[in-house]
Amino acid sequence: MVRMDTVSARSNLALIHFVRDELQRLGVRARLTFNADKTKANLFATLGEGKPAGVILSGHTDTVPWDGQAWSDSPLAGNVRDGRLYGRGSADMKSFIALAVAHAQTFLDSQAPFAVHFAFSYDEEVGCFGVRELIADLRDAGIRPLACIVGEPTSMVPAIAHKGVYRYKCCVRGKEAHSSLTPRSVNAIEMAARLVGKLRDMAEGFEREEPRYAGFDVPFSTASVGQFHGGIADNVVPRDAEFRYEFRDLPTADAYAMQAQVVAHARSLEPAMKQVAPDAGFRFETICEIPSFLGSAEDPVTRLAQRLSGERRTTLVAFGTEAGLFKNAGIPTVVCGPGSIEQAHQPDEYVSLEQLARCEAFLRGLAGTRELA
Ligand SMILES: [Zn+2]
Repeated sequence: MVRMDTVSARSNLALIHFVRDELQRLGVRARLTFNADKTKANLFATLGEGKPAGVILSGHTDTVPWDGQAWSDSPLAGNVRDGRLYGRGSADMKSFIALAVAHAQTFLDSQAPFAVHFAFSYDEEVGCFGVRELIADLRDAGIRPLACIVGEPTSMVPAIAHKGVYRYKCCVRGKEAHSSLTPRSVNAIEMAARLVGKLRDMAEGFEREEPRYAGFDVPFSTASVGQFHGGIADNVVPRDAEFRYEFRDLPTADAYAMQAQVVAHARSLEPAMKQVAPDAGFRFETICEIPSFLGSAEDPVTRLAQRLSGERRTTLVAFGTEAGLFKNAGIPTVVCGPGSIEQAHQPDEYVSLEQLARCEAFLRGLAGTRELA
């Protein structure tokens, strides 16, 4: 699977068709749901047809790219050296998917009183887009799973919370003029800067006032502007500016309320802009909205993951996953998978064979589970 190029910008169908065919050989029919231009698909399959809905094993099939990164080997080589499997996606997160598929027969033979489901998505790395359709498809099909295990790399320690990631683009339209005639213009950069300042004020407010959530590296919500573009010459008042920003909200915070504050501030600036130029103003676009995730140490699925991984601990993770989307769909969820996020998205990404062995034991244990808790 590491040797299949499934960078988010490209098709994932080689991998999806491979899994579909593997399952077909075992007599399992997979449901595929495609994106609009049919270049990418999610795969959902039930192992244990006829049993009550059970535990979803969830993974994303896409990877981040490697442009400009210095790799010792091809990112698609998939070589094993020194007890490690190297390659893009080895940790994040093809190993989990590959091991789940490798255990398909074990799940079919299992005496567990519930089914195991595979839910493999596309376009996670660019905003968790594919899995939303997959979850909607489950709902439409009347499938009500008991629990979901998202196999993102947590070094096999069950993770029960992460922050959300909400990204937006703001396009500012002003009115251009010769820079000697500023009163007849609306300076798009300056108006954009007022909103950027608002974001900075909000970020400082989170740091100062937000109740701390222990366990995160940064135990409060953050806001950050990542890109800013505007202006064409020193002596032209700029008509256009745009910037992109993000919120990473605590599970106890509300990113939509944060965004609403930014939009309200923009609207308060618009009357003065429109007096000079009626079509001046702010326009917002959503880039991605990945909800935060808050599971529970008391949840049966967390206990199950602890038992199967042999870990007493639970952890929090700093990165966004599909877990919040499953949880918000009413499915108790935990994040637990092989490899470390330290190696994800990096050159020479790898997963250790020791982690793979732990994941195999986890999956064998799942097949042998008699009840959830
Ligand atoms: Zn991932």
